[in-house]
Amino acid sequence: MGHLYQLAIIGAGPAGIATAIESYVLGMRDIVLLEKDENHNATIRKFYKDNKRVDKDWKGQKVELDGTIYFMDGTKESTLDFFDQLLDNEVLELKTHTEVQKIVKIEDGFEVFIAGGSILAKYVVVTIGRMGKPNKPDYKIPPSIKNQVHFTLDACGTDEKIMVVGGGDSAIEYAVDLCEKNEVSICYRRGTFRRANPTNQADITRVVEAGKVRPLLNTEIVELESESGKVKVLFSDGAFELFDRLVYAIGGTTPSGFLQSSGIQEEDGKPVHDENYQTNVSGLFVAGDITQESGGSIALGLNHGFAIANYIIGLSK
Ligand SMILES: Cc1cc2nc3c(=O)[nH]c(=O)nc-3n(C[C@H](O)[C@H](O)[C@H](O)COP(=O)(O)OP(=O)(O)OC[C@H]3O[C@@H](n4cnc5c(N)ncnc54)[C@H](O)[C@@H]3O)c2cc1C
Repeated sequence: MGHLYQLAIIGAGPAGIATAIESYVLGMRDIVLLEKDENHNATIRKFYKDNKRVDKDWKGQKVELDGTIYFMDGTKESTLDFFDQLLDNEVLELKTHTEVQKIVKIEDGFEVFIAGGSILAKYVVVTIGRMGKPNKPDYKIPPSIKNQVHFTLDACGTDEKIMVVGGGDSAIEYAVDLCEKNEVSICYRRGTFRRANPTNQADITRVVEAGKVRPLLNTEIVELESESGKVKVLFSDGAFELFDRLVYAIGGTTPSGFLQSSGIQEEDGKPVHDENYQTNVSGLFVAGDITQESGGSIALGLNHGFAIANYIIGLSK
């Protein structure tokens, strides 16, 4: 068999990087971070709009940082720079373009399966987040309009008629950003944006009052169709409207297939774990958004990483 790493971390987002750094700081060596994308922090790169404000207390969740990583409010760009610096400062092995398919328990640890091979590790931490699978609506998205229905802002241009679907912080941030150069509506099934943080509530109120975003509150979509090259949106009250694009910002899903194939049990849509984030498989841990029912935060992920690092170091002594 090949080289046995002490620690393999699946996913190089905030929780994965924190687990690696905190373990290194506590004296562990031979750590590998496996990331399926071309660089670390794919969620931040793909789902955050450019220049997005990054709040430490995301969604109003106040988190005291436990570990050695000092993270504070910033922007998408400063946050990515921050993680770049963390990775540059420590001797960690980051393998990008490396998607893990499943994890199998073996005698001395785990065999972590990637395309064309496997990696061996004594301990494994799964920090793959929930945004690999953004939540999709219950109704069908017809193939003819797939190129006009999105889950990030990447494809959005200017002077388009766009509807953002959702009413949480991400949806509001998308709508506020898009309305500078587009005609924007925001469709939300609730009657207010009260679930968003105070800054985003103030931002959405400002753009709505300025007539830059049209709120469609207490509004449910029941069907999408294609009409004249546009997205035809049918609402539950029988009304319909045409848009150039739709952007859904309705969170992410637990990667159940991955968890099941690795023998990790799930309960209420989350992997089962103890107070040290260890799953039902001894030596196999979960951290970050994957442990949260409806999204965590960067700071929470950092704390999970610190807690796991401490626990594993304790086990190795
Ligand atoms: C639009 C938006 C705005 C947000 N704004 C804020 C904010 O202002 N402040 C804040 O604190 N939080 C914010 N969040 C939440 C925050 O981004 C998450 O809580 C955080 O990124 C979770 O970290 P994580 O490490 O658990 O997972 P992620 O950041 O999702 O990282 C998971 C990583 O695992 C990789 N991966 C997935 N599957 C595999 C696999 N099979 N093999 C290898 N690698 C894999 C992914 O490519 C990714 O890089 C926001 C989220 C969104 C979507």
